[in-house]
Amino acid sequence: MNHAGQTDSQQWVCRICGYIYDPRLHEGVAFEDLPANWRCPGCGFGKSVFVRRHQAAADQ
Ligand SMILES: [Zn+2]
Repeated sequence: MNHAGQTDSQQWVCRICGYIYDPRLHEGVAFEDLPANWRCPGCGFGKSVFVRRHQAAADQ
């Protein structure tokens, strides 16, 4: 496997409620691999409201 370019932080954030999806908290399942009918546990909206969270900002 080629691990180049991979990071251990593949977080996505919900634009509606601010919920952060962290694969490490979901048995390593990447956000992209979630089923299409997956919904945000915070607000119930679908995957389309999530945006990739960049690592630049501090984790707070
Ligand atoms: Zn949400």
